[in-house]
Amino acid sequence: MDTLRPLAAFEGELVIDLGAIVANWRDLSARHASGPVAGVVKADGYGLGAAPVARALAEAGCRHFFVAQFAEGLALREALGHGPMVGVLGGFPPNADGGADGGAGLTPVLNSPEDIAEARAAGRTGAILHVDTGMERLGLNAAQLGAVAGDLAALGLRYVMTHLACADEPAHPLNVVQAARFAAARAALPGLPGSFANSAGLFLGEAWASDLARPGCALYGINPTPGRPNPMRQVMRLTLPILQVRQVPAGTSVGYGATWTAARPSRIATIAAGYADGYLRALSGKGIGVLHGVAVPLAGRVSMDLITLDITDAPEARPGDRVELVGPAQTPDQVAALAGTIGYEILTSLGARYRRRYLPA
Ligand SMILES: *Cc1c(COP(=O)(O)O)cnc(C)c1O
Repeated sequence: MDTLRPLAAFEGELVIDLGAIVANWRDLSARHASGPVAGVVKADGYGLGAAPVARALAEAGCRHFFVAQFAEGLALREALGHGPMVGVLGGFPPNADGGADGGAGLTPVLNSPEDIAEARAAGRTGAILHVDTGMERLGLNAAQLGAVAGDLAALGLRYVMTHLACADEPAHPLNVVQAARFAAARAALPGLPGSFANSAGLFLGEAWASDLARPGCALYGINPTPGRPNPMRQVMRLTLPILQVRQVPAGTSVGYGATWTAARPSRIATIAAGYADGYLRALSGKGIGVLHGVAVPLAGRVSMDLITLDITDAPEARPGDRVELVGPAQTPDQVAALAGTIGYEILTSLGARYRRRYLPA
C-alpha cells in the first residue's frame, strides 16, 4: 500500500496505473453491448490491490465486482462502501452473516444443491446461481439444475452464471458446447439474467454475450486473445535499483549452483528481488530485465531476495539505476512465457516488499 515514507534506495517499486485499468474496463464495456461489465478483483485484484482498483472502477461507473472468498468480500465491501454488488464466487461459509439483505451486503454464488438448501434455510435472497457447463469445478450440473429449477422463486436469484474453460482458445469445441449448455440452463430459468464471459470470452462473439460479463485478467493488461495482438493497455511496472555492479573475469561463476559462467569479462548487477518477491525461481537463467532500454539477461539462479543480471551490454549502468523486471517492456505475459506459466500467476505472485505507487485514474 502507498505510504508517505520516501522510496528507499534499495527498494523495488511497483507502479500501478489505475487510469489504464479504467481504460481497459471501458474498452471491454464497449465490446459487451448486451449488458454491463463487472470487475473481477479476486486475489487482491490479481496482485495489484483490490481496494484501489475497485474504487477506481466504481468511480468510473462499474457497479458489479467479484471476489473468490468471503473474507475478500468483507474487505472489499469495507473499501467500496454500500452500493456496488460484491459477488463471492466461492460462496459463503456456513452461517455467514453476509447475506444480500443484511450483514455485509455480499452476494453469494450458490455452487451446489447444498448451497441452495443453506440459502433457503437462512432465508437469504438475491444470490447468484452457478451452473456448470464444462469446468467440473463448482456449480450445478444439468441434472441438479433440473431437480431444483422449478423451485427457486423464493430465493429471488439475481443472476445465473457459468464459467468458460477454454475461452482463450477460440477454436476449442468446448466453447460452443458451453454456450449451448448455458442457453439450455437459462431456458430452464426464464427471466433470470445471465452472466457468462470472462476476459477471453468477451472476444468470442455474440453467443457468449450475457447480462453481465466477468473479466479479470484483461483489466490488468493480460492478453485475452493469446496468439493475437494484445488489445489491452499495460497497467503495471515493477522496477528495482541496482545495488552493486561487479566486474568479473571470463570463467567466473555467478550464484547458487554456479550454473552461469562468464564467457567474457562481464559486468554483473545485483538487485534486491527474488522468488520471495514473486520473481519465480523458474526464471533462473531465463528472465530478462530492461535497463536503459537494453534487455539484460539473468546471470544464474534466482535467489530468495536477490537476482544477478549480466549488464555487460549496458556499460553506462550504475548502482541506483532502475531495472524493469515486469512492465510495458517485459509484460506479465512475456515473463510468464519465459517461466513456463501464465501472466495471471506472475501478477498474483507479486510480493509484499515492493513499495506500491498508484497513478490516479
Ligand atoms: C477468475 C474468474 C473470472 C475472471 O477470469 P479472467 O480469465 O481473469 O477474465 C470470471 N469468472 C470466474 C468464475 C472466475 O473464477
